[in-house]
Amino acid sequence: MKKQIAILGSTGSIGTQALQVIEEHPDLYEAYVLTANNRVDSLIAQARKFMPEAVVIANESKYPELKEALADLPIKVYAGEDALCQIVQENPVDMVLAAMVGYAGLRPTMNAIRARKPIALANKETLVVAGELINELARVNGTPILPVDSEHSAIFQCLAGEGNNGIEKILLTASGGPFRTFTHEQLATVTKEQALHHPKWEMGAKITIDSASMMNKGFEVMEARWLFGVRPEQIEVVVHPQAVIHSMVQFEDGAIKAQLGMPDMRLPIQYAFSFPERVRSSFPRLDFDTCSALTFERPDTTRFRNLALAYEALHRGGNMPCIVNAANEVCVYAFLTDRVSFLGMSDVIEKTMMRVPFLAKPTYEDYVQTDAEARRVAEEILTKNN
Ligand code: NAD
Ligand code: MG
Repeated sequence: MKKQIAILGSTGSIGTQALQVIEEHPDLYEAYVLTANNRVDSLIAQARKFMPEAVVIANESKYPELKEALADLPIKVYAGEDALCQIVQENPVDMVLAAMVGYAGLRPTMNAIRARKPIALANKETLVVAGELINELARVNGTPILPVDSEHSAIFQCLAGEGNNGIEKILLTASGGPFRTFTHEQLATVTKEQALHHPKWEMGAKITIDSASMMNKGFEVMEARWLFGVRPEQIEVVVHPQAVIHSMVQFEDGAIKAQLGMPDMRLPIQYAFSFPERVRSSFPRLDFDTCSALTFERPDTTRFRNLALAYEALHRGGNMPCIVNAANEVCVYAFLTDRVSFLGMSDVIEKTMMRVPFLAKPTYEDYVQTDAEARRVAEEILTKNN
């Protein structure tokens, strides 16, 4: 029986690489449903190639175009956010790859967890916004959450076979992004073109900007906390520019295990699909002749203030990470449309954190309200600054 995979966000960077994994193993995996937000052309092309049971386009205005283009095929066509939330619950679905970007991934992922569909989680914002709630939902339903983020997959791989052996520390590696060596003065004038050019990974625009500002690493600290049940003090960020070590775990006896490899997301995607097994792949191998030096540095939370803000949100807990996530989403899209400077993003996020009411024990409805309020406040601050 082939594993039937529902891909949320199939037209994105993770989504298209997931389809490459499926193509590599037609005997093991099948795309049951493909979904996109806006990119109807690539969704049509993917549907024609992979022949899923259904496709969903989140943007309802694109429905007629999609429907017409697939009229000659026996593929069900749906549109809208509710359809996205329902399709993941269908009986034949064996696994849901959450590869949408941002807060929008939260609700469909929660629905898939409720339907007890194992989650391959790329959409880290889901755990940033509502990690405690998601963990509880997964526990109650007995739904496994398998990491796709390369660092978390590395940690997960290091933990395989360790049973209840105690984790002393998680060493979360960071490439440092394109501005690792930039001074504060240089950071003040960087452009979106520079920020969109990541030295090691080719990814969607939002996570690429988050990587440049190191907000991504702050989010990954939160993600690690919820995925592996460790305290924030047990997670240490290590800047490792070569991006060969994808992360490490230090156990109670002092031993450190690491996972190494090429910077290629297809491996963590495939591992989430195949766990607990490993399956053969044709992806490029790491060549030690070309990586003679592995170096390590401390992260600089003064130059990269977003990382400090993420740590603060992590320590305060409650709805604070949700506030930071929403303000950050507003800022990233503002930066991409030249409405805020690179360093200006941290100012807006910090002000939003001060202005949105803090809730220590938020419910799902509180998160929805917090997200909306934080977006409104961040927009207001942006508009006033301009
Ligand atoms: P991307 O922008 O390339 O793709 C996003 C996908 O989500 C697209 O298919 C888009 O159509 C869909 N989408 C966006 N907004 C939507 C909405 N409102 N409703 C429905 N669908 C929507 O992003 P990406 O780089 O593939 O990243 C996806 C997620 O994976 C992010 O959460 C990111 O942090 C995480 N991630 C990505 C990488 C990577 O290498 N790209 C690595 C680790 C984690
Ligand atoms: Mg990562």
